[in-house]
Amino acid sequence: MTTANESAQFTIKSIVDGVRSSKFSATEVAAVYLDRTRKFASRLNCNLHLDDKAALSEAKAADQRIKAAGPGNLPLAGVPVLVKDNICVKGSKTTCGSRILENYVATYDATVIQRLRDAGAFVIGKVNMDEFAMGSSNENSAFGPVRNPWNEDYVPGGSSGGSAAAVAARLAPVALGSDTGGSIRQPASFCGIVGLKPTYGTVSRYGLVAFGSSLDQIGPMTTTVEDAALMLDVLAGADSHDSTAVKHPDGGFAKALLADKHGFRGMTIGIPEEFFDSGLDPEVAACLEQAITVAQNAGAKTKRVRLPNISYSVAAYYVIATAEASANLARFDGIRYGYRSAEKNLSLKDVYRKSRSEGFGREVKQRIMLGTFVLSSGYYDAFYSKANKVRELISRDFAAAFGSGCDLLLTPTSPTPPFKLGEKLSDPLAMYLSDICTIGVNLADLPGISIPCGRTKSGLPVGMQLIAPKFNEKKLLIGANAYERATEWHKASPSL
Ligand code: GLN
Repeated sequence: MTTANESAQFTIKSIVDGVRSSKFSATEVAAVYLDRTRKFASRLNCNLHLDDKAALSEAKAADQRIKAAGPGNLPLAGVPVLVKDNICVKGSKTTCGSRILENYVATYDATVIQRLRDAGAFVIGKVNMDEFAMGSSNENSAFGPVRNPWNEDYVPGGSSGGSAAAVAARLAPVALGSDTGGSIRQPASFCGIVGLKPTYGTVSRYGLVAFGSSLDQIGPMTTTVEDAALMLDVLAGADSHDSTAVKHPDGGFAKALLADKHGFRGMTIGIPEEFFDSGLDPEVAACLEQAITVAQNAGAKTKRVRLPNISYSVAAYYVIATAEASANLARFDGIRYGYRSAEKNLSLKDVYRKSRSEGFGREVKQRIMLGTFVLSSGYYDAFYSKANKVRELISRDFAAAFGSGCDLLLTPTSPTPPFKLGEKLSDPLAMYLSDICTIGVNLADLPGISIPCGRTKSGLPVGMQLIAPKFNEKKLLIGANAYERATEWHKASPSL
């Protein structure tokens, strides 16, 4: 077995190759990552409810499944997966980063977890997140902020900040995240890893605690594009538990990457003007200019395109996402499960009121109030239905850009590099604008990926985003892989 240090170089691909050829077992892989986790996780505050015994017994069970299926037969044999704490894993806590679910233990596996287990992978732990996936810096977790492994004074991004920090620190080769407005891609960008948000409907949401049901998607956060493809092969698919999850028209993503001989050659990449205006941080702009040149040198044609309504995306998102969140979070009432106020002799209304006021954090309460307001009679038409019309216009903008001959679009993932802990806490608008490059992709149901494309002068990661038409993950991954092959950014990991 390799040493812990060598394991820092592990990819999903190399683990699967090793386990399938019986060079090492899932249990041995787990031991290596658990060793790194013991060393680094508490400093970064990225893991929640650490439990070595549970992780090792998951790994042993995976070894048995692998043996029963015959070595070589399971596509993710021996792969340890970290899971964002809003995805249900039977028998383990699923807190959503919230006090209101602090002691909630999931009674069933999410579909994604079931699929991963069936493919030979196993759950090695749960990771920290912004409360109910609301945030862009992971400072909204009831269990404390996560730190960026590249510089611990900086945020890792959010809301899947625990997932991103842990993968960047090589505490697992992959983590699952969820993305409602950028929560996979933006933290991936801040931590220098790959983050894929699939087309809405590609991956089942059954067992994902809902935030904005019409926007949420689960996706993989990995260190390479090939690993993202290997994950998507297993995660994608219809599910009788989620009527919005459909059979993907493609599949075979990892194979397609291997078979592809063209990369960027023959592709036209659209560069949406709106994302390159004066609001873009100069260091991010410089990285993106370089990334465009890399794509051109690798054979891509580029062309400027416009998305005229994209400037309304953040506003429309904060109406739609909060409206959906206010309805989804109504179930946390102190009666059925989760936290209940300890105060005695309360009326039913006061049980609701006290449990919710004590259980939810500030950002979540703010969003529930905003959401109930935009849905209330008299304001529904002015806000909620108008936001849905804007959503449609944004979808049409993207469709027109692709219709004008673009295979993919290329944008920054975030307008700024990682910022300092605390820096944006008193300015919610600045915080919300962190997702200005990613939110439109959710509103239009499109697939998007963030890949590392540079570093600031002070050494912090910068990411770029590629966007494809609906259900065109194949092209998206081929483009991202072509970029990755032409650069070295993905190879670096933070020194801890
Ligand atoms: N940062 C955005 C928000 O706070 C997006 C979150 C997400 O994608 N889950 O809502």
